[in-house]
Amino acid sequence: MNTVRESSSLSDKPIYDITPFTHLDYPGKLACIVWFRGCNMRCMYCYNSDIVFAKSGNYTENDLYAFLKKRVGLLDGVVLSGGEPTTHELLSICTEIRRMGFSIKLDTNGLNRESVEDLVEKGLVDFISLDFKAMNGKFGYITGSSRFSNFFDTLKFLVSSGCDFEVRTTVHADLLEPKDINDMMRLLYSVGYRGTYYLQEFIETRNNIANIEKPKKEFDKSLLEDTLSVVWR
Ligand code: SF4
Repeated sequence: MNTVRESSSLSDKPIYDITPFTHLDYPGKLACIVWFRGCNMRCMYCYNSDIVFAKSGNYTENDLYAFLKKRVGLLDGVVLSGGEPTTHELLSICTEIRRMGFSIKLDTNGLNRESVEDLVEKGLVDFISLDFKAMNGKFGYITGSSRFSNFFDTLKFLVSSGCDFEVRTTVHADLLEPKDINDMMRLLYSVGYRGTYYLQEFIETRNNIANIEKPKKEFDKSLLEDTLSVVWR
């Protein structure tokens, strides 16, 4: 398996795109979405391959601040997404976003525990969506990364930190079966996670990373155990 390299944190244009407005991606808040280029995973079903493989972004940090300056009083929050935002230097970016008065949500695959920990301990992030891709046995196959233990460290840190966060998993029925999700729920429960477990069905697009199509198998939701409260979205 190839290990995916971290993106350079020195990119002059770390931001691939900015979605000016969403009321769906940050619970209870009107927000914009900042799409950071590059990722340290290569998930088979990822439909953001343009963002993942982009050699450069389109916007600088200053472009982002200029955009946000005009949104003060209009938006509540900023969603940091991608790609994988933590492959970039987020401390200074979050400090500036915070200084402008916005709440911050981070979407992360959890491989960079140090970055997540730094942001949480400095109070620079308000809410985190943590992707749980798979248990160790399937993690490398699905994500192209052999760093399950890094993800697991981040999960344990978030549980112990008391930080407001959610866990979510993309389900492609040929890749993850109900048994896999049950194992994942049990792992979450065992480390103390008691929040809602969000499952999202694979969306078929023409350009996901592994060119996978609609699942051939059915995912039988009735086989899911009730270890945690599950919500499909
Ligand atoms: S789905 Fe996977 S490859 Fe795509 S941006 Fe998220 S973590 Fe990266």
